[in-house]
Amino acid sequence: MGESEKVPGLFGVNVFHDAAMRDHLPKQVYEKLRETIDAGKELEPKIADSVAHGMKKWAIEHGATHYTHWFQPLTGVTAEKHDSFITEPGRDGKVLMEFSGKELVRGESDASSFPSGGLRATFEARGYTAWDCTSPAFLREDALGVTLCIPTAFCSYRGEALDKKTPLLRSMEAIDKQALRILRLFGNTTSKRVIPSVGAEQEYFIIDRDKYLDREDLIYTGRTLFGAMPPKRQELGDHYYGTIQERVGSYMNDLDTELWKMGVPAKTEHNEAAPGQYELAPIYEQCNVATDHNQVMMEAMKRLAVHHNLACLLHEKPFAGVNGSGKHNNWSLNTDDGINMLNPGDTPHENVQFLLVLACIMRAIDRHADLLRVSAANVGNDHRLGALEAPPAIISIFVGDQLEDVIDQLCANGQAIRSKRGDKLQTGVTTLPDLDKDATDRNRTSPFAFTGNKFEFRMVGSSDSIASPNIILNTIVAESFREAADELEGKEDFVLSVHDMIKRLLREHRRIIFNGDGYSAAWVEEAKKRGLPNRKSMVDAIPAMGTDQAVRLFESFGVYTKAELESRIEVDFEAYAKAINIEARTMEEMASRRYIPAVIRYVSRLAESLKLVSETCPEADVSVQRDQLTRCSALLAEAGRALRELTRLDEEGCERSNAEERARFFHQKVIPAMNALRSPIDQLELLVDRKDWPVVSYGEMLFEL
Ligand code: ADP
Ligand code: MG
Repeated sequence: MGESEKVPGLFGVNVFHDAAMRDHLPKQVYEKLRETIDAGKELEPKIADSVAHGMKKWAIEHGATHYTHWFQPLTGVTAEKHDSFITEPGRDGKVLMEFSGKELVRGESDASSFPSGGLRATFEARGYTAWDCTSPAFLREDALGVTLCIPTAFCSYRGEALDKKTPLLRSMEAIDKQALRILRLFGNTTSKRVIPSVGAEQEYFIIDRDKYLDREDLIYTGRTLFGAMPPKRQELGDHYYGTIQERVGSYMNDLDTELWKMGVPAKTEHNEAAPGQYELAPIYEQCNVATDHNQVMMEAMKRLAVHHNLACLLHEKPFAGVNGSGKHNNWSLNTDDGINMLNPGDTPHENVQFLLVLACIMRAIDRHADLLRVSAANVGNDHRLGALEAPPAIISIFVGDQLEDVIDQLCANGQAIRSKRGDKLQTGVTTLPDLDKDATDRNRTSPFAFTGNKFEFRMVGSSDSIASPNIILNTIVAESFREAADELEGKEDFVLSVHDMIKRLLREHRRIIFNGDGYSAAWVEEAKKRGLPNRKSMVDAIPAMGTDQAVRLFESFGVYTKAELESRIEVDFEAYAKAINIEARTMEEMASRRYIPAVIRYVSRLAESLKLVSETCPEADVSVQRDQLTRCSALLAEAGRALRELTRLDEEGCERSNAEERARFFHQKVIPAMNALRSPIDQLELLVDRKDWPVVSYGEMLFEL
């Protein structure tokens, strides 16, 4: 059998999907479970035992010995605790393989070390995890053997969300309800659910693992904290979409197979802009499943790289001077019967609905730009947002020429009477131009771009969970839909009212549309004039989660309580301060124990040879040696001073007791001190004999694979 013929048989073999459920569950139980999943409800305790039994049987048939409640704490990565299926040995010394409904539906976890931002006092440290049965259980094969992974939500005993999954599921409920109201207004009586669909394109770097292991900075912080630029970077653009090297190709091949087996629809792979950079895009799925699958994908990427003696770097900015990595979160709203609410549609009627949806999304993004911004904030992403490689930290929407023109006409005259493509338009209030989805052009500099039938949120960091951006998108759009539905329901002159509303919303929120170059300095100025927020760093972005407006929004949909929001703010500030503190300490360690000793050895040798040459041959020209000695010694002294200063500030920062103050101190004081240390060391790298340099170089990491 050819490789390609194996794929359909391979896909999803490790997933407890519909067919597996049908085969392993009694008919009634299967039907009940199917109903529960389709309606996005919680599993009924009555059938839990039976489902657990079937799931265990299936898992054991596939070699599983352990199960885990797999969850997503506020760290942004996933966590799990493994239990084996075995029971206490009986009198005969034999064990059974057991798995009860209680173990399936609800797992206890003494997870007191996960960040909770004060939500969970240590005396009630235990949280519990509960199966999100809309995301199928799957098997993971790794060095531990075969493990049944049950995607779960993680809550405290009082029901507070301690994870990213719980609010995501709540936000899906919110948008489902409000989006259905919009559909009903337009006469849709058949759709039962509206589900956000998400496809997250994942960027990453691959380097040789031995080189990776030579760098404490990569090991401890995920990014290089030192390193001079190699002679060649990405200027030739010869890596972008270039041929994939053999070693990476064979890694990708393995990765695809592993992902397919776990039901992750990995689809497109290519080289990215920077040397050593790649992208993997899956086919889109329902929001919570896509979020789980993105985590599965990141885990598999890291795990399988080791098999090829490679290291996968998911950090947003592993290398200065070349592009960093992001994650494009493609988002749309789809009904259970196959309608995409972000599809412009073919009839004027559908177009009106689309324009209302678009106008509502404009209002949501304009009103809550600060929330969308914070949803993409993580420590690594601060290096990208606003640098000339990723969308700026200013939120705006790109809709393409054709749509922008329609919006402008509606704003100006209240009617769109022409289309950019010269189509003939009917006249009358209800008439809008046919919108062709392929007419949307490309703009890579926009953080939030309409791409035909979906929005692409391009700000998200490569290492981050996509839960937060989708929680925000779902909730802010739900709010905007709710307002629209509240106003329009029961209106006698619906057609007129909806037109008035579209025009009003477009006018009121026109400022959020920007089709130009988001990387330009002119846009920063222009955005300021328009009053759009520009939160350049994570520490400036975080407080958006705690404003009165945010609390009202989230509480009104039950997505987050005020306490849950406060806990996230606390966790984010903590995470920021901790990450920078680790970076600073790693720099101190590398400077004191690697770079400075190496440079001292080098200059000492230089001094000796200078002395030797001068003594042996007084008339010899030693200006090069002398100059080299002077320059290296000066940089060495600069590095020594910078190191002392960094150590001092780092210690001072750690003494701040309040998380926000600590984060701000690290942002304002420690980061500049880190840069001040990096600069002389990187200059020294270009002066000191290569044989004496203690750490592998950028060139070796990026180009020698
Ligand atoms: P682009 O060329 O715009 O990047 P692609 O077709 O390559 O678009 O898709 C990029 C990502 O967007 C993929 O993960 C894809 O599955 C996802 N995607 C496509 N259509 C939708 C949709 N309607 N909703 C959400 N995601 C989508
Ligand atoms: Mg894309």
